[in-house]
Amino acid sequence: MEWEIKRRSNGCILCNKVFSEEEEYYSALFDESNIFIRKDFCSSCWDKGKDEGLFSFWKTKVPKKDKSSQPVINIDVLLDVFMRLEGNDETNQKNLRYVLALYLIRKKVFKLKSLKKQDKEESLVLYYPKEDREFNVLNLNLKEEEVEAITAEMCQLLNYPYLDHELPVDTM
Ligand SMILES: [Zn+2]
Repeated sequence: MEWEIKRRSNGCILCNKVFSEEEEYYSALFDESNIFIRKDFCSSCWDKGKDEGLFSFWKTKVPKKDKSSQPVINIDVLLDVFMRLEGNDETNQKNLRYVLALYLIRKKVFKLKSLKKQDKEESLVLYYPKEDREFNVLNLNLKEEEVEAITAEMCQLLNYPYLDHELPVDTM
């Protein structure tokens, strides 16, 4: 998978400041020649960090150490990435969009309305009740293993950087 994840840097990518417990910081996805790179910035470096190639970003917070807090995937971030990927023809990005769609269906954010056949391609027609709109997603018919692999990549890309282990898909 052509995604590179700058993670486990334990701090700001610009000033190397290590984030402290409960500190708020920014995570951002950059599209660098169709490779997604995740970078984390402290709040004071964020303005300098928003440079070319910024694809999507979100504000987040270092979780408390003592709590066995489940890392949370922010649905809004997934939706944002999903919407920004619309119309992108790069294979990896299409795969990511398809996997995001499956995940959002499972989380009941989208409803699978129908399958639409056009030429030799099949699309999933998704309904997004919150905004009363529909999306078409190319049905890639990926194998189970491929979906799993991409989902794992997606978690790494979008999760907090303080994970020592990969999450099983179902606990996301
Ligand atoms: Zn910084």
